[in-house]
Amino acid sequence: MRVRARVEGTVQGVGFRPYVYRLASELGCSGHVLNDARGVVVEVEADTKSVERFLARLPAEAPPLARIERVAAESVPVTGETGFAIRASPPGGEPSAAVTADTATCAECLEELFDPADRRHRYPFVNCTNCGPRFTIVRGVPYDRPLTTMAGFTMCPACAAEYENPLDRRFHAQPNACPECGPRARLVGSDAEDAVAAAASALRDGAILAVKGVGGYHLACRADDEAAVAALRARKHREDKPFALMAPTVVAARALVALGPAEEDLLVSGARPIVLARRRPDAPVAAAVAPGAPELGVMLPYSPLHHLLLADVGAPLVLTSGNVSDEPIAYTDDDALERLAPIADGFLVHDRPIQTRTDDSVVRVVDERPLVLRRSRGYVPDSIGLPVTARRHVLACGAELKSTFCVAKGARAWVGHHIGDLQNYETLRSFVAGVAHFEALFAVKPEVVAHDLHPEYLSTKVALERDGVDLVGVQHHHAHLAACLAEHGETGQALGAIYDGTGYGTDGTVWGGELLRGDLCGFERVGSLFAVRMPGGEAAIRQPWRMACAWTQAAGVEAPAALAARPGWDEVSALARTGLASPLTSSVGRLFDAVAALCGLRSEITYEGQAAIELEAACDAAERGAYAFGPALDARPTVAAVVDDIARGTDAGVIAARFHNALAAATARALLEHGPDTVVLSGGVFANRRLLSRTRALLGEAGVRVLVPERLPPGDGGISYGQAAVAAASA
Ligand SMILES: [Zn+2]
Ligand SMILES: [Zn+2]
Repeated sequence: MRVRARVEGTVQGVGFRPYVYRLASELGCSGHVLNDARGVVVEVEADTKSVERFLARLPAEAPPLARIERVAAESVPVTGETGFAIRASPPGGEPSAAVTADTATCAECLEELFDPADRRHRYPFVNCTNCGPRFTIVRGVPYDRPLTTMAGFTMCPACAAEYENPLDRRFHAQPNACPECGPRARLVGSDAEDAVAAAASALRDGAILAVKGVGGYHLACRADDEAAVAALRARKHREDKPFALMAPTVVAARALVALGPAEEDLLVSGARPIVLARRRPDAPVAAAVAPGAPELGVMLPYSPLHHLLLADVGAPLVLTSGNVSDEPIAYTDDDALERLAPIADGFLVHDRPIQTRTDDSVVRVVDERPLVLRRSRGYVPDSIGLPVTARRHVLACGAELKSTFCVAKGARAWVGHHIGDLQNYETLRSFVAGVAHFEALFAVKPEVVAHDLHPEYLSTKVALERDGVDLVGVQHHHAHLAACLAEHGETGQALGAIYDGTGYGTDGTVWGGELLRGDLCGFERVGSLFAVRMPGGEAAIRQPWRMACAWTQAAGVEAPAALAARPGWDEVSALARTGLASPLTSSVGRLFDAVAALCGLRSEITYEGQAAIELEAACDAAERGAYAFGPALDARPTVAAVVDDIARGTDAGVIAARFHNALAAATARALLEHGPDTVVLSGGVFANRRLLSRTRALLGEAGVRVLVPERLPPGDGGISYGQAAVAAASA
């Protein structure tokens, strides 16, 4: 008999065709396999028993990076074909085949990289079907070399032989290359034969280098070199935000941070995210790496170039995004050379173009489960399922800070790479180009476009400019709730505590401490944090002392004298009292700001969420006490108790811990009053380990099912997916 099977899912660029070839050969089936725009098509011909065996084993034994979503098989007439062949992809057609995420160098490639006898010894671009760049080099589908940034490199006979041999690990590995024919690394201004060794030597001597990686440029220097790290901080105009580190090995990472099993799994995973973990007191890093932070962000090498560089330096490096302050990370050579010249002493570059700028992903482990804070390189563009089937194609435009977009059709959604703050022309351009790229990669032609209710978000404006589509406005916190529900496959009702900094409410005020009851289709606001003024509006976000002023005034208590003596205090007090230019906010983020300022920890911030991060960091781990919270999430008694403790000279760490404990208890109590079966905890504030862990524990003790985002960020990076879920359910 003869059968034609169509395989859909992530089946291109993952060694699927050679796998099919081997399986068919083993079972004595003749026929062929090919990639087309929708996935893989196999035809096999043999006796019935062999064909049945083939179809049973096909999904069961697929290669590690493959994700099979559907196999549709049909009988076709016998042709008498002999032998089994891997055929070329037909051109054209409707592309929707999945492209995989960039994957860390595999063990076999690493062995070659460090084997002096291998022809790819110290070759910074070694890769195979199981590893290497993917999403960052893809220009279109089907995923074949001409539609990647490797198109300009012609394979030498040795590489071509590997590429064409179905039994070779590099069979149809699109980025396949070697020192003869592939990309080359270069240390700009140096004629060193081994550019990576020369770069390592400069780094060891204290240089700051711009290093072209997989998804963009990094800025690198020795992590233990106080002068180099301080210089990097000054030149990058980055005042306080911690720098990420790359450690040569897991062993070296263990010397920097305390790693549990979940953290180690993430560190060595193919996605290789930055893992935030508690820093060791004796971690061999300069003070300027992460001033005052109890955690460090650590990752392991994920490209051969990184492996060589780290092995040559022999010590952890600072590896921070290649940009100035809040600009997007540089990824094209001309842009990097121009923008990073004032920062870097040298440039380690290569001639493989990066198609899509893709930042490093960031993950934290809470209660032994991953909490993704930034989902980008290594995870994007893996699809995430939707619990409902979208009848029409969807584009969701996300929020504004930590922005992402999402396209969806059927029961699948693809969330784009982290774009960042949509506030300058460059990020807006990335956003628009990214949307067009995803629409082409996944053959999505949006008929429904979802957006935030905030009229001033650029993402909203992009949505409103699209012609001939149906628009779906999704309230910010409802999108957070829906994202968490959808990620967990939940279509029913849940009660959510959604805490973040800012979200446009349906009443035009600034929401951010919301109890919502709802599902994918709609929601009802059943409670919220007691609202206070944001004196001077947006200025209060950058200056937490303004929120201390508003909250002490609301609570009817005197602010600590040191704070009240600040220049501008009286004016800001008047704003809070009269409400002039001072919108009401129920934001939990702003409450954190107020408490951090009251404790004297942070009165002005230099990056988003800084005061809350520092308040969490300050917590005295042993403190079990908690302040009172008024009924219905009224934090006025809590703020009064904080001020009392400050007057008594209580340590800021104790106050911070009592505040966290109070908020967790009040949140659990407020949720439980409504007798929910399922609770969602989301919003950027729940990136706070202490708050999340305690609230979850209290709800768990009460027997409630608690859902927390895992694959998508609790913050605004998850908004686009939530909007898509709402649009799929309601449009
Ligand atoms: Zn490999
Ligand atoms: Zn070659």
